[in-house]
Amino acid sequence: MTLYEETLPLLQELIRNACVNDLTPDSGQEVRNADTLERFFAGVPNVEIQRLEPRPGRTTIIFTVPGSDPDAEPLTLLGHTDVVPIDEPKWTKDPFGAEISEGQIWGRGAVDMLFITATQAAVTRQVAREGGLRGTLTFVGIADEEARGGLGAKWIAEEHPQAFSWKNCLSETGGSHLPVTDGSDAVVINIGEKGAAQRRIHVHGDAGHGSIPFDRDSSIVKIGEVARRIAAADIAVAKDDIWQGFVQAFRFDPAVEKALLEGTDPAAYGEFGELARFAHAVSHLTIAQTVVRAGQAINVLPSHAYLELDIRTLPGQTNDYVDDALRKALGDLADEVEIEHLISEEATVSPTDSGLYHVLEKVLGDFFPDAPVVPIISSGGSDLRFGRRLGGVGYGFAVHARERTLAEALGQLHSHDEALHLEDLELTIRGYDAVVREFLG
Ligand SMILES: [Zn+2]
Repeated sequence: MTLYEETLPLLQELIRNACVNDLTPDSGQEVRNADTLERFFAGVPNVEIQRLEPRPGRTTIIFTVPGSDPDAEPLTLLGHTDVVPIDEPKWTKDPFGAEISEGQIWGRGAVDMLFITATQAAVTRQVAREGGLRGTLTFVGIADEEARGGLGAKWIAEEHPQAFSWKNCLSETGGSHLPVTDGSDAVVINIGEKGAAQRRIHVHGDAGHGSIPFDRDSSIVKIGEVARRIAAADIAVAKDDIWQGFVQAFRFDPAVEKALLEGTDPAAYGEFGELARFAHAVSHLTIAQTVVRAGQAINVLPSHAYLELDIRTLPGQTNDYVDDALRKALGDLADEVEIEHLISEEATVSPTDSGLYHVLEKVLGDFFPDAPVVPIISSGGSDLRFGRRLGGVGYGFAVHARERTLAEALGQLHSHDEALHLEDLELTIRGYDAVVREFLG
């Protein structure tokens, strides 16, 4: 059997197990996918198997294939086994059927990220059977990624950081293509992700009866003004190599390129087409106003109102940076608000001069010889950030066919009728096989 023939039924079983993580602690039940993976490795020599379970059913399973040279660099493949919930009426296919039709496999998790997880498992099993690699290879079927890893990668990194090596990690997204303006190709590797700096802004006003509002200080009027000023905040465009390389990869005409790099014309983002929102997000501190609360009874003036902000930071933007940006936007209102910190996690990014990055670049170059490899960061999160915080490097890696754009890849995440082209499964298997042999060889 070929690796592809071994991987496809595994992927189908992982989808059918329906390890849906709805953010509640007892959802997910990744133990089903851990059991499937353990059966997949049954009878294979040279594999050490370890299970971690912070809560019943929330199982992470670790397969380690020791290398022959203890001094060689290790490689760890992080494949999450949970999936996000579905909106059943919106699906035209069985969301957990793993049906194969039109050259694609359909189902929740097919793209995010079970096709990579299945690939990582199959390549690791193949390496265990054949032996002979110098470096140690670890595959981790990891729980709870979709809830930010509290019962998965975050918990492991905090409670069991020695369970496997975080030094060189590969995980989800990457390997899709940019629609270069002259029709040529460019392929992306994911090297980092934005951080979170959630805030709740409180304002206070006068309480009182709704029938006598004259000369009262209204918390609602004030929170409205806070919202207006934050929406009008002047946020500077990123000045780093990642943004510069991303823009240049599109080969826009020089005036457009200049406007994007200098942040002088928001309308220039239209040149990215379907990628406009993504491009804006990865070049800015973004502030989304998502929750506002004030008042209860219609005849009572509320003395308190608040506004919640979903803020995403670029690499290097600290909590202080965010609070300064908010205060600057608020101007003279800054002294009248309290800024409460909710979840804060700094952005993480890995270098493009590491041994692992060079191997990814080389392997993608073998698939797409004429395409420059473009490092990008993602606007959302992955388990790789925990490894980066422990001092390792982590990249999002897969291989998608030439026609598959970054916009299409992003559009598949958490979508209805999620589907993966089988061609991309085949390419990703070849890609992981090549990377593992080249890096651990
Ligand atoms: Zn994912």
